[in-house]
Formats: sequence, C-alpha cells, structure tokens
Amino acid sequence: MNRKQNIKILTELLDLKDVKVISHRLHVGIGMILQIESIKSYSTCPRCGTKSHRLHQNHRYIVKDLPFGEKPVFLEINRRQFKCEECKKPFSENLDFVSQKRTYTKRLAHKIIQEVVENDIHSVADQGIVTTEEIERMLKDASLELSDDKPSLIKRLGIDEIALVKGKGNYCAVLIDLDTSKLVTILNGRTQEVVKETLLEWGYEVLEQIEEVSIDLWVGYKNVVTELMPNAQVVADRFHVMTQINKELDTQRKREKRSLEELIKKAQLSAQKAEYEKLLSGLKNSKYVLLKNESDLNEEQINKLSEVKNVSPVLKEMHELKEKFRKIFNKTDNWYPGVFKLGMWLSKAKKYFPKSNNTIIRWFDEIIAYFDNGTSSGAVEGINNKIKLIKRSGYGFRNFDNFRVRCLLNWHFNY
Ligand SMILES: [Zn+2]
Repeated sequence: MNRKQNIKILTELLDLKDVKVISHRLHVGIGMILQIESIKSYSTCPRCGTKSHRLHQNHRYIVKDLPFGEKPVFLEINRRQFKCEECKKPFSENLDFVSQKRTYTKRLAHKIIQEVVENDIHSVADQGIVTTEEIERMLKDASLELSDDKPSLIKRLGIDEIALVKGKGNYCAVLIDLDTSKLVTILNGRTQEVVKETLLEWGYEVLEQIEEVSIDLWVGYKNVVTELMPNAQVVADRFHVMTQINKELDTQRKREKRSLEELIKKAQLSAQKAEYEKLLSGLKNSKYVLLKNESDLNEEQINKLSEVKNVSPVLKEMHELKEKFRKIFNKTDNWYPGVFKLGMWLSKAKKYFPKSNNTIIRWFDEIIAYFDNGTSSGAVEGINNKIKLIKRSGYGFRNFDNFRVRCLLNWHFNY
C-alpha cells in the first residue's frame, strides 16, 4: 500500500466530519499521532456571519482522541485564524469535534463520561488516557449543559431524600419526574429553603402545571407544595408508610429476642431454659423473612416464616397486618373502598402498630390520595437505589457538585 492509500484509510477510520489526515507517526510509549486538517477552505465569522477565506495564521496543537485498539491516539489539529473580510477582525475557526481550550475531542469526553457513570473517576483515570483533572473538566462541561436543561413540564413530581453520609445527618433532597421516571435534580440539602429555591428557579409556569407531588412523611415538604404549587395534590408516598410499618415490626422482633435472651440468663430450671432457647432459635435470622414481601419468599424462607409465627403470636399478627397493608395498596384503585379498607386496617393495627397508626391518621388525606392517583413509588425507590449505588462507588468525587453531575448524567446522558 502506498502512502496515499494509507492516508485515505486513516481518514476513513478517523471518521471525523470535514477532516482529513495529512500524516501519521507512531511514537513508542506514547501512541499514534495523526496530523489532520479541515477540508474546508473557509470559516464563518462569529460576529457578522460572513464567510471568510482569508487565512490569518495557523494555530497547531495536539488533542487526545479515542484510542485505536490499545494505542492512544493524538490529533495534531490546526485551529486556523481567519481575518473577516467584512469586519476586518481575526477570529478562530470553530471545529465541530473539539471545543476551544480543551485538550481532548468531544467524542473522547463523551466516552469517558460514560465510563465514569459506570465506574468511578479513579479507575477511569488509571487507564492512563486522561487525567483526573481532565475528567473533572469533562464533568463540569457536561454539568453546564445539564443545568441549562430546566424542566419545562412536569405533571407528577416526587420529592424524596437520601443520606449522603450515613448517620451524619448529611442529607440531600431528590426531585423526580414520576411520569418519565427520571431524576430531575439532586439538591445539596433537604431543608424547605433549599427545595423552595430550586422550585422557584423553575418558574411559576412549570409549578402551576404540577398536578401531583409525592412526598415522604415530612410536613416541611407538604408546606412547600402547598405554598408553591397551587394545583398539586400532595400524595404521601406509600413506600415511606411501608418503611415505617416495617420499622415498627422490626423493633418488636428485636424486643422479643432481647427479652428471651434475658429470660435465658435468669432461668433457674434447665427445662425452662431449654424452652426459651427453643423460642429464641425460632426468632433467629427472622428479620429478612418478616420484612420482605411474602410473595417474594422462596420455600425455605416461607418455612422460616411459619417457624417465627409459631413461636411469636405478636409477630404473627404484625406480619399479617403488614402484608394486609401492602395488599390494600396493591389492589385498591378507588378512593371509597380504599378509605373503608384502610379504616378497617387501622382499627386492627392500633394495638400492634401504635406509631404507624398515628402517622397514618395524621397523613390520612395524603395517603388516601394514593388510591385515586395510583402514583407508583417504584420509580422513586429505583432511582434512590441507583443514587445510593453511585454514592457508594463515588469515592472519586471530591465534592457534591461532582456527585450531583454524575447522578444527573446517569439519567440524562444522551447527547
Ligand atoms: Zn465579521
């Protein structure tokens, strides 16, 4: 193959619009350097829009591009300066594939960000193609593109929160479009003020179109909705009610275990001690089977569950009430029977779930609203789990902005 053919193939392989390869050289230990050139002999003045053919000067420099196989690829580009024939001022040409003042092509940035979304900054930087600083620059650029992207229409909004650092009270609010199941944004904090500030930025036109807001059981969010969204119905996220019921069930499980352990310690007669130990072994490893949806249990877990129910009548009662509550919400899609069934549940649950009972009574209207709207909290839960995953793998994120960007990129990265 002669040189000309080589160049032609390299141009095709490079596959950048309006660009041709001029020469190539391979540096051992560095990679492939392709000298490239625009095939256009003119550029358009950004000030007045006049096409200019008058080359003012060449400006050559090297940027990184997608690797070719295992080999790093560098492009020696020429961002030419033209002199506008109309306004007589020089200007740099715009190159589609590389932004000004960036040391890498747009498509490399795209690929790197995808990798960062899947992995984390350090492991991507360790591949040696781009540095940590370059990755952070890429994320920052991407975040600027994202932040221009304010929502224009949301009908059903979810407000939730997650702990950034577990047990340290470092929470952030998470706003979700429930119709598209996409993260709208994630805020550095969860106070009423923080949430209000972001919502106000969306503007009244967006806020007044919101028909429904699903929240956890915090009155602060309810106040924000009432104040800023005149047409929205507040719906208490059933997931959070369920969480509270599960918590109360688990507290009872722990309590019973502890009291059996105490009884075993104090037992005088060995027969009695053996009896307590039998009960305690029935309660061992019972957390999962009690809290998990019964329909998701396998045979072994179902056996464990009936063992628990045999040794503890209170846990049996509570577990059945918990399952009943879930079924009411899964099977009722109408306000009237919903109110009726929930009322029945409350009268039975009062004795076993005093805390949840109070919560449900306090949030009755908002919980009942679920029956008419049927807002699925599955989306919220799924998004939260994904964010938690990102958080766990996010040791490469030096600050909240990076974390936020990475979360957003996960749902919006498709440019
Ligand atoms: Zn001009």
